Amino acid sequence: MRTIGHFIDGIETSGNSAEFQDVFNPATGEVQARVALATQADLDAAVASAAAAQPKWAATNPQRRARVFFSFVALINQHMDELATLLSAEHGKTIEDAKGDIQRGLEVAEFVAGAPHLLKGEFTDGAGPAIDMYSMRQPVGIGAGITPFNFPAMIPLWMLSPAIAAGNAFILKPSERDPSVPVRLAQLAIEAGLPKGVLNVVHGGKAVVDGILHHDHIGAVSFVGSTPIARYVYATAAAEGKRVQAFGGAKNHMIIMPDADMDKAADALMGAGYGSAGERCMAVSVAVPVGDETADRIIAALKPRIEALKVGPATDAASEMGPVITKASKDRIDALVQSGIDQGATLAVDGRGFTLQGYENGYFVGPSLFDHVTPEMDIYKEEIFGPVLSVVRTRTYEQALKLTMDNPYGNGTAIFTRDGDAARDFAARVNVGMVGINVPVPVPLAYHSFGGWKASAFGDLNQHGTDAIKFWTRTKTVTARWPSGIKDGAEFQMPTMK
Ligand code: NAD
Repeated sequence: MRTIGHFIDGIETSGNSAEFQDVFNPATGEVQARVALATQADLDAAVASAAAAQPKWAATNPQRRARVFFSFVALINQHMDELATLLSAEHGKTIEDAKGDIQRGLEVAEFVAGAPHLLKGEFTDGAGPAIDMYSMRQPVGIGAGITPFNFPAMIPLWMLSPAIAAGNAFILKPSERDPSVPVRLAQLAIEAGLPKGVLNVVHGGKAVVDGILHHDHIGAVSFVGSTPIARYVYATAAAEGKRVQAFGGAKNHMIIMPDADMDKAADALMGAGYGSAGERCMAVSVAVPVGDETADRIIAALKPRIEALKVGPATDAASEMGPVITKASKDRIDALVQSGIDQGATLAVDGRGFTLQGYENGYFVGPSLFDHVTPEMDIYKEEIFGPVLSVVRTRTYEQALKLTMDNPYGNGTAIFTRDGDAARDFAARVNVGMVGINVPVPVPLAYHSFGGWKASAFGDLNQHGTDAIKFWTRTKTVTARWPSGIKDGAEFQMPTMK
């Protein structure tokens, strides 16, 4: 059986691991590989390699560092089919969706190829008598990234690209459920010209994450995953004095106003609710029609679309939605659907019990649709992270806005309407980090930043865009005066510009 090793000092290695974890093919339920789980010694080896490589990498001028990213992007594009196939085999999402995962990641690698410009500091000529003042952006040193299973290419690339372009060395701890693509990306980075040691990958779960959070030589940690772990990572790394950003789960609401084009809104809900089997932090899991007539119309438009949705393995080009990640996840989704029925919601489309000939042991879950969901129900409160869409009916726009704002999560939200005033009001008032106006999955592009509010993000700088450059660098400000500008005699008062 194939063993997926760590990537340390430019070499794939099983390290000191005595422990391995099975990596499944979600479409068949078969074990297709095993991944080595890192010991503290493996993590220490990765950190030692990073520490040895980082000073020289930081001293490499930013334009040369940027050139590595030009080559890296080109290599990722050359290997797109291979990467997408590998990604789908471990995650289960369709090949086209896997390509989207990779593409959205490589766009951040493209963005940071502008590192020479992005890293420029500020300069004030004559800030005081014969005094110049300037600031520099210097790397943190060694950064670490801990990533979730649902975007095994995109989120590692969102983290490692700005960190490395800024002159840091980087330790990536990807999800142990689909670990192959992150290792392959690290190999391609070395092929692109990145010196060995600048990017290392270690695998594992809580033990290696704790090793990272408490490691003396790691200066900054970026985390993406579920909210309870994000809270833990944020608190633990902050208590260790590290820079930390931690992005958590979501429950994204899409408001449908009575004037919306119902066909377009239904198409949007199909992609946003069931794309990638609902396993996206920006998936829409709650549809909020305003008025009973709007609710009836959107459900009528959704039902035939859901019934026509083609569920299948990524190897079938006709598949529109693949399996979920694990058997445990499938069982949890089925149990939540049952809880929705028990707690009084109307199951308009039942996706349970879905089977596919030849894939009977795969983790397929058919798409479900609930109507008459209320905020007290578990299907509303829990992030289901599966193909289950809940409709919460509201009477007015204000009620729909309040529902969205009262939700503890605040990652993404959307409004579908033709009314510019309503859309503008929604964007201005809603307490959610990313807002779509007739755009159901408003993931900002690489040169803007990505991040939620409330329980969806802890820390104050977002991913990608210029925020990421700030996160992975420290500002140093220099105040300089040369001998001709220095007055004789000691000055005891606080210098001011009065
Ligand atoms: P997860 O929280 O289970 O795992 C995330 C990472 O944390 C993995 O690398 C995992 O190995 C590690 N981990 C797991 N248990 C741990 C523990 N007890 N202590 C320390 N580390 C631990 O998340 P997941 O299931 O891989 O991913 C799905 C979640 O990620 C969803 O909640 C989704 O909304 C969220 N997500 C959020 C964003 C965002 O940008 N806000 C993006 C993608 C996914």
